[in-house]
Order: sequence, then C-alpha cells, then structure tokens
Amino acid sequence: MSSSPEPGTTVTERRIAVVTGASSGIGAATARQLASQGYHVVLGARRTELIDDLAAEIGGTGRRLDVTDEASVAEFVAGLDTVHVLINNAGGAKGLDPVATADLDDWRWMYETNVLGTLRITKALLPALIASGDGLIVTITSIAALEAYDNGAGYTSAKHAQGVLHRTLRYELLGKPVRLTEIAPGMVETEFSLVRFGGDRERADAVYEGLTPLTAEDVAEVVGFVASRPPHVDLDQIILKPRDQASARRNIKTG
Ligand code: NAP
Repeated sequence: MSSSPEPGTTVTERRIAVVTGASSGIGAATARQLASQGYHVVLGARRTELIDDLAAEIGGTGRRLDVTDEASVAEFVAGLDTVHVLINNAGGAKGLDPVATADLDDWRWMYETNVLGTLRITKALLPALIASGDGLIVTITSIAALEAYDNGAGYTSAKHAQGVLHRTLRYELLGKPVRLTEIAPGMVETEFSLVRFGGDRERADAVYEGLTPLTAEDVAEVVGFVASRPPHVDLDQIILKPRDQASARRNIKTG
C-alpha cells in the first residue's frame, strides 16, 4: 500500500477517482488517463505491487482490494468520505464452456467478481459519491452484457446481471447528484483472455491473432471523455468495438 490514510480522513483535497481492477488492462489505463486529467486516483486490486507501482507513477494511492471480500471492501473504502468518480472495472471471465458442461466454480467466480463485486463497492461508495455533489459511476460491462454467444453463458449472464444492476441505479439515483455511464467494449487486448484460459498464453494470444482489437487505452480515453462532461450531461451507455468486430459472435475471422 503506497499510502493508507486513517479512517475518517480524506486522501486529498483534489477530485478523487476510484478505479477497481487497476492493476492491469483497462483499469490501469483508466487510472493513468484520469490522473492526467487532474484526478487523485485511488487504485484497487489484489496484486498490490502492481497498483503500488502505478500509484507512485501517477501520484495516486494504491490500496489492496478484493471485490469478492466484504472485509476487504470495507477496509478499501475507509476514509473515502468524498468520491467524485467510481470506475467499476474489476471483473473478467473464466472458461469458455457450453452450459451442458459448465463449471460451477467458474460461474461462481464470474458472479462474485463482476456482479457482487460491483454491488459491494458501489453500495460502499454511494454515500461518498452523493456527498461530492457531482458524482459519476462508470461501469465497464461488455458487449457480453448485451448479447449471448456460444459457450459464453457464464460470462454473458454475469455481465448482463452487472449491466442491469448499473441500469437500475440510473433510475434509483434520479434526483441525486450522480451520473451513471455504462461502457460496453467489444474485444480489448489485455490480460482478459489469459485469465479466461487459466494462464494458457498460446490460447489467449490466438484470440487476438488475425484482427486488430481495441487497446486498454482506447477504452480509457472514452472514460476520460465521460468524466470530463459537465454535471448535467449523462452519457448513459457507450458501446465500442474494434472495426474488425461486428458483434460478440461475428468478426473478420468468423466471417
Ligand atoms: P484484465 O487485464 O484481466 O484486468 C482485470 C482487472 O480486474 C485486474 O486489474 C484484476 O486485478 C482485477 N480483478 C479481478 N478480480 C478481482 C477481485 N476479486 N478484486 C479486485 N480486482 C479484481 O482484463 P480487462 O480486459 O482490463 O478487464 C477489465 C474489465 O473490462 C472487466 O470487467 C472485463 O469483464 C471488462 N471487459 C473486458 C473486455 C476485453 O475484451 N478485454 C471486453 C469487455 C469488457 P488483480 O488480479 O490484481 O486483483
């Protein structure tokens, strides 16, 4: 942990952005992007060395966070009394199996991380977001939150649930000073496929061969744009895909 303020104190007087899953991929790129826009970024993930290094690089604060663990979430949010931006990014997929042979543990991991993880951290930070007077919640769902694809039901159903949680909040927070943006990316080259395929580098690399995927920075720039809109402008939902991908089921390789 590069800095750990006492409970009841705020990290800084600057506008504060919290990024979950900031140790790699979209989260790390988003932390850099928001820091470049003047935010003090609080980075959360389980791999503390990575977030501590990145926090030092961008002048932010790294704190260990496991979104599947209630106690870890409580510790992570301690002292964060005012938060302007929350990026619900921690998440991912495990496996690519048909429903007929679905691995229950993989499904549990996906639901715990993407759905309940988003719920835990959002619940914990809602008072701080409202207290800011101009809060913003960005949830990184996926095109998997909008469509189904073969062998993907564990991930697509978790992402659908995460998306509905986020969209429900849009109604529930009407009248409160909090904007909500769902960003649904298509294929982005990160550690996503490496995690999905249990560390199988060859299988992960094959996903991105023969097409040009989005980069984590492509998504982070969109987050930065959203965060720089004036308080009355709510970009509700943004879908971004590589030119080479028309949907979760069709890209230039599948034809
Ligand atoms: P990534 O490089 O694997 O990053 C995932 C991040 O989530 C890591 O920082 C990881 O950190 C964190 N994380 C995982 N479990 C966690 C937990 N229990 N507690 C806290 N943090 C946890 O993949 P990515 O592509 O950037 O994924 C970011 C988000 O984008 C995910 O929600 C993913 O579903 C979504 N997305 C990805 C793609 C894609 O094609 N890559 C497309 C659409 C949407 P630690 O392991 O250090 O905890």
